[in-house]
Amino acid sequence: MNPVPFDYHRAGSVEEAIAFLREHGEGAKLLAGGHSLLPIMKLRLAQPAHLVDIGGLASLRGIRIDGDTIRIGALTTHHTIETDEALRRACPLLPEVARVIGDRQVRNRGTIGGTLAHADPAADFPAAVLALDATLVARGADGERTIPAGDFFLGFLTAALNPDEVLTEIRISTPPARTGMSYQKLANQASGYATVGVAALVTLGEDDTCRQACIGITGAGANAVRATAVEEALTGRRPDEATIRDAAALADEGIEFLDDIHASADYRQQVTRGLTRRALQTAVARARDSR
Ligand code: FAD
Repeated sequence: MNPVPFDYHRAGSVEEAIAFLREHGEGAKLLAGGHSLLPIMKLRLAQPAHLVDIGGLASLRGIRIDGDTIRIGALTTHHTIETDEALRRACPLLPEVARVIGDRQVRNRGTIGGTLAHADPAADFPAAVLALDATLVARGADGERTIPAGDFFLGFLTAALNPDEVLTEIRISTPPARTGMSYQKLANQASGYATVGVAALVTLGEDDTCRQACIGITGAGANAVRATAVEEALTGRRPDEATIRDAAALADEGIEFLDDIHASADYRQQVTRGLTRRALQTAVARARDSR
């Protein structure tokens, strides 16, 4: 199916894009990689009258590491995140996640800002930015504001962005020494999207107890969430096999599981616990190896 007719505008700056969004309100949509927006427009699930193409804005593209802060421009593609050497050294979780998104075409066009703003319940990066406790930077007519990742995903396809805001940057603090990370995903065989995906970060102390654990879960419910019950069950304890197993069993707490053509709620619940256990085992092993 073809989309309904729309006007196309190419933004010359972030300010121009914001002014356009402000003028046209809900009738206008930003276009980044187009790999989520255009499919839903073709299905006529979205019918914006105006598309504002921000794809040419170089200021929103690229990865910088300033001291302990990693800054990723919203227009940075999944492919760039997958292949950036400095990022792999500073935060291997992000390339690990990017590598399992869709296929090569999707990774070449899709952007991290687009995937976060779209807030698809089955997208991969939401789990990672939650586990990394990232800060998302948005700019609108009233200036710039920062949004903790934990406050960003509000529900099905709903992010905490105002209609006139552009997501400009994702900021992440470089994880401390003795941190292991892992992303485990059960991919839908047709699309590659996450039936369930779990990102885990575990930081060990000198005595090998868990100083901090952060877990983000995607695909399970209407939006990605932090698994706080699992985190609390691990913190301050030695993450041996039994502790990991018992903590992972709490991964379903507070999640209202999706039940759809891809997987039943019961199946998603079992997979969530299993992948959480696997993500924690891998993250702990990597933290120990990083000694
Ligand atoms: P667009 O499609 O251009 O935009 C998406 C939405 O975000 C639109 O509403 C747009 O207005 C808004 N938006 C875009 N940029 C901004 C911004 N900077 N500020 C505010 N709003 C913005 N994703 C996965 O996570 N895992 C997968 O396995 C996966 N498989 C896929 C397989 C296929 C076949 C396809 C087509 C897509 C797949 N995707 C998958 C989705 C892909 O990662 C998309 O590229 C991504 O979700 C959206 O990024 P985009 O740059 O294409 O955004």
